[in-house]
Amino acid sequence: MPPPVRSRVKACAQCQAVSPTLYRVQQGGASPWVLICPACREQAATQAGYRYGGTWKADKRH
Ligand SMILES: [Zn+2]
Repeated sequence: MPPPVRSRVKACAQCQAVSPTLYRVQQGGASPWVLICPACREQAATQAGYRYGGTWKADKRH
């Protein structure tokens, strides 16, 4: 039997939606960095204190 494929997909810290692409953002200067989905990032980007810290992708083979 082949080994099971390990899922590297993560869930959004805000809406718990599973997405192959998440964004590392900070919402307010003292807030921790969180990974959120594209939909939540769009909303977060309109808030004061929003900072973008990079993109996380499930598939990093390229
Ligand atoms: Zn979300």
